[in-house]
Amino acid sequence: MNDGTLPPSLPNGTPVWWRNPDVLPVDAAMARSSLDGEMVKEAEDAWEWYGPLLAQLFPETRADGGRNRSDLRELPRIAGMIGLKRGRLLAKCDYALQTTGSIKARGGVFEVLTHAVDIAREAGLVEDGDDLSKLATPEAKAFFARHRLLVGSTGNLGYSVGLAGCRLGFDVEVHMSHDAKQWKKDRLTALGACVVEHGSDFSQAVCAAREAADRQADSHFVDDERSITLFMGYAAAARELADQLEEAGIPVDADHPLHVYLPCGVGGAPGGVTFGLKRVFGDAVRCIYVEPVASPCMLVQLALGTDRPVSVYDFGLDNRTIADGLAVAQASQLVARETRHMVEGIATVSDESLLVWLTHMWRLEKMRLEPSAASGFAALVEFGGEIEVPDSDREITRVIWTTGGAYQPETEFAVALARGNDLISSM
Ligand SMILES: *Cc1c(COP(=O)(O)O)cnc(C)c1O
Repeated sequence: MNDGTLPPSLPNGTPVWWRNPDVLPVDAAMARSSLDGEMVKEAEDAWEWYGPLLAQLFPETRADGGRNRSDLRELPRIAGMIGLKRGRLLAKCDYALQTTGSIKARGGVFEVLTHAVDIAREAGLVEDGDDLSKLATPEAKAFFARHRLLVGSTGNLGYSVGLAGCRLGFDVEVHMSHDAKQWKKDRLTALGACVVEHGSDFSQAVCAAREAADRQADSHFVDDERSITLFMGYAAAARELADQLEEAGIPVDADHPLHVYLPCGVGGAPGGVTFGLKRVFGDAVRCIYVEPVASPCMLVQLALGTDRPVSVYDFGLDNRTIADGLAVAQASQLVARETRHMVEGIATVSDESLLVWLTHMWRLEKMRLEPSAASGFAALVEFGGEIEVPDSDREITRVIWTTGGAYQPETEFAVALARGNDLISSM
């Protein structure tokens, strides 16, 4: 039973592992969700249909037939370094997604393409089943230019929506929170997007963008807190992972449970992926969210077991973290509601541990992560022993979702690496 209390050390900024007392067997969890699992299949089919258009907009994806996919990579050296005795360790490499270099491409690019196809269909420019590459022509661009896209972001969602939107021809307006890194803003301005800077946090930037969209005709707001399209774009990643595991000959069943570590900001990306994974693997998968010690918004929301929105500020936390993609004080109510009975638990991690793991992953694997994207490793190392207790006699396959970073500027990365190196040598 959920007694509605928080882990006692949470407000001290100490890392914690919180096991979710509300997690249910998959059938019961699905029955309590208001979302239909079939919507995930529809999103998978939509991604297939969008392929030729994606290939036009992002030539990098042509070699893979216009698919927005990332590698699944086994990490034997890291497994050895952290002393894993049994099972496997793999990384899902969304940090290098060819479209926009972060997991936000799954949600953000999907919603932009879906909206573009919807309005083009209403205008009679395309019909069901058409080859959508015709939406990448100058005529289509002129049509999209009469429409505006708005989004609120800490950085990566804005970039994904901005890049896909600008390439289609949309007029794009991105509302950024104070956490957003300058280079993320500059990159959007260079694309031709209008960047509106807010001195406030993510939730307020989203609110401002939502209000601006309400005032304007022919505008569409990509709502990171409430969009089901965004959620389903993320959920479609589950099939991709399932296919990759199968191809690699890695079984997932009661004797070979799958543990997936998902960095969590507002919740859309980890929540969508969790929903998709539960649909594919049922009780054989356990999904673990990871949040910064200063921004455990989903932890407070789920641990208090309430339907009323709660904020980390109410518990003496300041939402200040180097993990800009995870700097969110208040969770998506949609995601809290829909995944409340699906998520296994939530770990929180320190900023220092993110820098340490960003550095290890570069030194050993040449993976160029941003701090948020290193959080799954920090959580596994800190709490794996406790997290894995229910499966301690089984062959666990651990997948760490590395969510962003490949496109960060060299200078930015060098600063994080230098800090990580210092921390490692002082350990
Ligand atoms: C946005 C983001 C996340 C978390 O996704 P949410 O939908 O905000 O929970 C994780 N990692 C990176 C790099 C991100 O940009």
